[in-house]
Amino acid sequence: MAKSGRIKTIQSALERGKVSCTEITRQYLDAIHRNDHLNAYISLTAETALETAVAVDAKLARGEPLSALEGVPFSLKDNISTAGLETSCASEMLSGYKPSYDAFVWEILRSANAPLLGKANMDEFAMGSTCETSRVGGAKNPYNTEYVPGGSSGGSAGAVAANIAAYSIGSDTGGSIRQPASFCGLVGIKPTYGAVSRRGLIAYASSLDQIGVLAQSADDCAEVFRKIAVHDALDMTSLPFPESAEDAESSGTVRIGVAEEFFDGASSGVSNAVRDIIRTMEQITGSSVSAVNFPLLKYALPVYYIIACAEASSNLGRYDGIRYGRPADAYDDIDDAISRVRSAGFGAEVQRRIMLGTYTLSSGFFDAYYVKARELKQIMTYKFVNETLSGVDFLITPAAPTTAPKFGEQMSPVEMYLTDICTVTANLTGLPAISVPCGFDSNGMPVGVQIIGKKFSDFKLLELAAKIERATDRAFLAPLNGVNGMGVSL
Ligand code: GLN
Repeated sequence: MAKSGRIKTIQSALERGKVSCTEITRQYLDAIHRNDHLNAYISLTAETALETAVAVDAKLARGEPLSALEGVPFSLKDNISTAGLETSCASEMLSGYKPSYDAFVWEILRSANAPLLGKANMDEFAMGSTCETSRVGGAKNPYNTEYVPGGSSGGSAGAVAANIAAYSIGSDTGGSIRQPASFCGLVGIKPTYGAVSRRGLIAYASSLDQIGVLAQSADDCAEVFRKIAVHDALDMTSLPFPESAEDAESSGTVRIGVAEEFFDGASSGVSNAVRDIIRTMEQITGSSVSAVNFPLLKYALPVYYIIACAEASSNLGRYDGIRYGRPADAYDDIDDAISRVRSAGFGAEVQRRIMLGTYTLSSGFFDAYYVKARELKQIMTYKFVNETLSGVDFLITPAAPTTAPKFGEQMSPVEMYLTDICTVTANLTGLPAISVPCGFDSNGMPVGVQIIGKKFSDFKLLELAAKIERATDRAFLAPLNGVNGMGVSL
């Protein structure tokens, strides 16, 4: 089956001499400026991108073939460290901060000669579901700029949907790749925990954080994932991807489970589109569909938010104006100095989570909240793997209970937390999950279906996603040239 998507299209244009890498990189940079109103980027790295492009052009001039991802301009979420280039996590605390080393994924992509266009907008420290907690204001959804692009990888999703980046590397702690992908008509994969090194990813909740890919097609996602799923001896949670699992063609009927719990609270637009795609898969891709259940889903959000906030309160302890963050100008004593730095440097949502996390870790509450949540996480993982998934290959759910809301529509934090119901289970269990476009709601906003697989079934998920794309004639993907032709014409 011929590969499709932006990466192949760009690389074949480069190899056929239709365009030079410098030209295409400039076209991307121009398109970013033209679409400034999308607020998809926090900082641009034009110089780095063009330097890489010159190296690619030299290689093409020598008649050498391009290797994977070479010459294809992309973006990195602003919580992925880039030595010498600002990495702010969309927070005042880190504005102007230039890391002294590269994240492992950026090391890989830099050595692959992938031109880095810039750092994508996001929710502050990846805490949020709408991108609205960013210090530079939220990124916009290219389908309709009154709507959010999702979060926390909202800038990554907006940039790829508009084709002002060919693909983007994001992070997913509780849904931050899959939910924005679903809001913006993209394919987004959260790999098996450990499949992609987290070294250099600025930590939110380390036991849940996972780097992954947002792209315009399953083939693009697969190509990027294959490149970055490399064992890293310097990340103790990194796992070597078993060779036998790589590209394992699924043989015979694909067994799909549907658990009704995941549809509770889903809007009719989402529920209809997801149920339609399940029927299509049954008819066209030869899948068998059976009802399964996961009664423990009702604990997923409390368990997720207790663990995520506890780990965040510990991980964010380093922002004190001494180790990280700008020191206070005037202060009475050390406590006062730290308190001033943290009050000024963190936004309201980040402060709320640090306080919630500190509370659940404090003596007296530790056993009642944190220990209990850790225990439940173990039980949920056991039951999900050994019961819910026992007779099926994949579980299919909505990627999010609704399509993108408008800016300012989600009023309370609790309302926002509830929208993570479909995605957090894959993080709590460490399993791979992918979001694939499967329809539009009555306002023309994209709907995504989520597929959760077994450990290391990442390539099978990508293969199934590609089958869904073909079965639906690629009708639900953000267009190759970007929504409404906003981005680079290919
Ligand atoms: N919305 C979730 C949260 O705020 C997920 C964020 C993420 O995956 N980084 O915690």
